[in-house]
Amino acid sequence: MSWGFERGRVYNRRADIHNRFEGQQQGGIITPKQYPLVLIITGEEGLSHGYADRQRPDGVFEYFGEGQTGNMSLQKGNKAVATHSAEGKSLLLFRKAREGLIFEDEMVYETHHIERAPDSHGNERDAIVFELRPLSAIVETVESTEDDVPATNLDELRRRAYSAAGIFPPERVAGFRNVYLRSEDVRAYVLGRAKGCCEGCKTAAPFFRKDGSPYLEPHHIRRVSDGGPDDPAFVIALCPNCHRRVHAGSDGTSYNAMLLTSMVTIEPKFEDEPVAESA
Ligand SMILES: [Zn+2]
Repeated sequence: MSWGFERGRVYNRRADIHNRFEGQQQGGIITPKQYPLVLIITGEEGLSHGYADRQRPDGVFEYFGEGQTGNMSLQKGNKAVATHSAEGKSLLLFRKAREGLIFEDEMVYETHHIERAPDSHGNERDAIVFELRPLSAIVETVESTEDDVPATNLDELRRRAYSAAGIFPPERVAGFRNVYLRSEDVRAYVLGRAKGCCEGCKTAAPFFRKDGSPYLEPHHIRRVSDGGPDDPAFVIALCPNCHRRVHAGSDGTSYNAMLLTSMVTIEPKFEDEPVAESA
């Protein structure tokens, strides 16, 4: 569920989107003024022009920007897609079908490229193609506990993690790191930050990994993409007990809210916001 939208369910553009959030009633990119939301619709225009949004085998969804004729520019709706994370907005993908709009997933902008594609008059022009990934895939990468944590000093891990959150411009980190690699940076930093103790119950990790490092699990305190899905201020290192408590405990939601509050001291740059969402 994202903003009340359920994956695979059909919604009516007027009743379920415009009556709730307002926003442009035409076109494939909707940017409601009053809500931190960018809604994009696939299958809207491209097909009739001879090109189509597409799913890449590596998990990236390629989404063509808006603009009827001439070269597309990174303005208006296109700019909203490219900057949604930095602006703290959720990016919701819908697929146009005969029965309405099917909610696909909450996405995260990774990058974009320019491609030659026909405009509405059939003339070749520069089209902006956004490369998006599902937010859930990124959360899973950060929370996955399979990989060993690389032994690097904490300051370096922190620098990398903050570049993932957009606090440092990406150019300042060696090379371009896609959202998966950035998630790994955050994961490594958060585990390093914990220094072997659960950041929930403060007790030592219950056992060590095969490589000798303390076993803790990164947990997303909230899954919304505010500030970037891999913002270290929203990821906490938990022992398996605390992690299961959040997900399966009868007090999981309130425990998660308590963890969110405690981030003020755990990750001092964190600016408190009232919305907590159990992952
Ligand atoms: Zn714990």
